[in-house]
Amino acid sequence: MKREHLIKPVLDRHYPTIEYGKGVFLYDDQGKAYLDASSGAVTAGIGHGVQEIVDAMLEQANKVSFVYRSQFTSEPAEKLAKKLSDSAPGGDYWAFFVNSGSEATETAMKIAIQHWQEKGRPGKNKVLSRRMSYHGITMGALSMSGHVLRRRRFIPLLEDLPVASPPYCYRCPLNKTYPDCRLACADDLETVVKRIGAEHIAAFIAEPIIGAAGGAVVPPEDYYKRIKEICDRHDILFIADEVMTGIARTGAMFGMEHFGVEPDLMALGKGMSAGYTPMAAALVKDHVMEPILNGSKSIMSGHTYSANPQSAAVSLAVLDYIDSHRLVESAKAKGSYLLNRMRRMAETIGIIGDVRGKGLLLAIELVSDRSSKLPFPPGLAVTSRIVDKAFDKGLLVYPAAGGVDGEGDAVIVAPPLTISEEEIDLLVRLLEETVREVMQEIS
Ligand code: PLP
Repeated sequence: MKREHLIKPVLDRHYPTIEYGKGVFLYDDQGKAYLDASSGAVTAGIGHGVQEIVDAMLEQANKVSFVYRSQFTSEPAEKLAKKLSDSAPGGDYWAFFVNSGSEATETAMKIAIQHWQEKGRPGKNKVLSRRMSYHGITMGALSMSGHVLRRRRFIPLLEDLPVASPPYCYRCPLNKTYPDCRLACADDLETVVKRIGAEHIAAFIAEPIIGAAGGAVVPPEDYYKRIKEICDRHDILFIADEVMTGIARTGAMFGMEHFGVEPDLMALGKGMSAGYTPMAAALVKDHVMEPILNGSKSIMSGHTYSANPQSAAVSLAVLDYIDSHRLVESAKAKGSYLLNRMRRMAETIGIIGDVRGKGLLLAIELVSDRSSKLPFPPGLAVTSRIVDKAFDKGLLVYPAAGGVDGEGDAVIVAPPLTISEEEIDLLVRLLEETVREVMQEIS
């Protein structure tokens, strides 16, 4: 192996060098084009090479790129906090800016714990979550994540595996069927709360639509209302992890809008700056901030780059672009066009067990048998085969762990919200070719 210095995800693998991006395409230094049907890691929501964003970046850089949040505030950070609050469910949110989704969920977790401390209830310090979840890679965020593969090496350092049942109707872990189940998976949270004791629990965190740990798993419409009701009844704050679903991705500004619930806290990342600069946030409702405002008046968290004016200016420009190009509506319309195309494609491909998602956060789940929904043996590495073959064909899709404990195969399709119908047609053609070829290989 040639001596290298950059640590890449797989150390003995060759990664093409990217040269530039435009719209939904990326181009490497050999001139090969890639249709970015995953927006990278479901991030590049407005596509690549958007001049308005570059202009906003330059304009801010010409003023000041960095100030330390303990010394100054900045106009872009103030404006961004207000804009996010105005567009969030029910409004009335404060924003704590960080640099990645993991920091956002971890900050939300810490604020929830501090909230109870300042209310004189320091024993409420656990954050519950579900199996089949991903909230980030740093230790606190990983502790809350049920993503088996990503936890495995660090189990001794983490909190116990998240336990609440996920709302995964395709292969229900409780062996029930919606609506006869009467949302047994949501009620499972209450069982867990009673077992642990609400006096020990600060918050419950969940992704509105499960991303990397399940592949665009959409809960029943009434699921989150029940969850919020259970949380409220037991004095447990509800944190919506909107890192993947937030900022127009699902055909609503926030994923939780589909379920009519106002979370107590939210975590944002990815689409917030659409990948142009690192930017993420924990959004906190007024009532969660109140005891802190009346108490210590300071949140014990923060990073050197928190509320970075450069990133805030970029994120503001991204939000303006989403408004002016009506990308919420576009995600909805293009999402339903793509979902229909994928469903039609799946009809004749036996290994596609499920096609699901909302807006432009979609996925296919692969199974060895459609009627029993039996997953493939892990040794066949079906997800990797699909992702790698698609890559060779110039199509970028995102791997997900299908199944409650990562025992299945799923692939996320989440192109930039700016994708055209012609580009969707090309996407579906390349995806179909890929899945058919993999099906032949493994049969
Ligand atoms: N939460 C969710 C729902 C995610 O999908 C991710 C990343 O995939 C994270 C948190 C962590 O975000 P980041 O990779 O920016 O740290």
